[in-house]
Amino acid sequence: MKGNKLEGKLEMSMSNGSSMTRGSGEVFDVLIIGSGPAGLTSAIYTTRAALSTVVIGGTSWGGQLMLTTEVENFPGFPEGIMGPKLMDKIRKQAERFGAIIVLEDVEKVAFKNVGEFSAWAGNKEYKARSVIIATGAQTTWLGLPNEQKLIGRGVSSCAPCDAPFFRDKNIIVIGGGDSAMEEALVLSRFAAEVAIVHRRDEFRASKIMQEKVSKDPKIKLLLNREIVDVIGEVRVVGVKIRDNKTKEVVEFPIDGIFVAIGHTPATNIFKGEIDLDEKGYIKVFDRTKTSVEGVFAAGDVHDYHYKQAVTAAAFGCMAALDVEKWLMEHK
Ligand code: NAP
Repeated sequence: MKGNKLEGKLEMSMSNGSSMTRGSGEVFDVLIIGSGPAGLTSAIYTTRAALSTVVIGGTSWGGQLMLTTEVENFPGFPEGIMGPKLMDKIRKQAERFGAIIVLEDVEKVAFKNVGEFSAWAGNKEYKARSVIIATGAQTTWLGLPNEQKLIGRGVSSCAPCDAPFFRDKNIIVIGGGDSAMEEALVLSRFAAEVAIVHRRDEFRASKIMQEKVSKDPKIKLLLNREIVDVIGEVRVVGVKIRDNKTKEVVEFPIDGIFVAIGHTPATNIFKGEIDLDEKGYIKVFDRTKTSVEGVFAAGDVHDYHYKQAVTAAAFGCMAALDVEKWLMEHK
C-alpha cells in the first residue's frame, strides 16, 4: 500500500476520462467498478486511508441519481439538491483525496488469482490487489414511447424518493410484486388515490403485502390491464390503458406513474467470476464479502431491498473499511 496524495493531485486533471496515462503496469491497492453513491463513497474512504484507488466509472458515470431530478432525502441538503449535482459533489470529494476516475465501461474482469485482480476497460488493463464492485442495478422500465422523456416529470420508480411531490394527486403504480405493493403503500400516505395496475388477475406479491394493500382505503386495483402509453408533453397528464381481456384501450387522466416491475443488477461481466443469485444480484457474505476473497460488493448490485442513495453510500463505506482491513491482513 502506498500514499498517493501527490499522484492523486497530478491525476485529477485527467480524471474526466478523456485521456488516461496510468493504468497499464501499475498495481492499485483498490479497483472500484462503478461510480454511483456506493462506488464513489468507497473511493472517498479508501483514498483517505492512503490506498491507491482507481474507479472505473463507466461511460455514463454517476448511476441512478444522474436520471433523478430533485433529491430531498439525502442528509445534509435541507433545501434538496438535484441528483446530478449531488453526484458531481460526491465525485469531487473522491477526487480531492486522489481517486483516479476513469470514464470507460469495464468489458472483462479476471478474479481467479486472489490479490492479483484485473479489469479491462477502454483497451487497458487495470490491476489491483483488491476490488469493490459497485455497478448498481437499473430500474426495469416499461419501454413505452413517452416514458423516458417524462422521468422526473411524473414518471418515477422510487416512492420513498418522490412520494411527497404527489400530495393529494392521483397516481398509478405498475406491477404485481412486493415492490409494487410497497410503493403503493408509501404513496397512499400522500396521494388522493393510488391505483395498482397489473397485467394479470393474480399478484406475485407475498400474501402479507397483498393484505396490507387490501386494507388501505386509498388503494384500488386495476387488474388484467397494461399501460400502452404515457400522455403528456412537459408533465404526465394521463395514460392509455389496455384491458387485456377485451383489448379495449382507454385514456385515463393521472398525475403520476410509479413503475415497479423490477430491477436488473449490472452483473453480466461478473458471471463465472463470482457467485450471483438467481436474479443476478451478487451474493454477499458477512456484509460486503463476495465468494472471492479480496473482492467486495457495495450498493444496489447486491441490495435489492433498500435501494436508496444513502444506503448505497453506506454500503460503499462498509466495503471500503472491509477492504482496508483485508489489505492490512494480506500485505
Ligand atoms: P418481481 O417480484 O419480479 O415482480 C415484478 C412484477 O412486475 C410482476 O408482477 C410482473 O408481472 C410485473 N411485470 C414485469 N414486467 C412487466 C411489464 N413489462 N409490464 C407489466 N408488468 C410487468 O419484482 P419486485 O416486486 O421488484 O421484487 C423483487 C424482489 O424483491 C422479490 O423477491 C420481492 O419479494 C423482493 N421485495 C420484497 C419486499 C418486501 O418484503 N417488503 C419489497 C420489495 C421487494 P407478472 O407477475 O405477470 O410476471
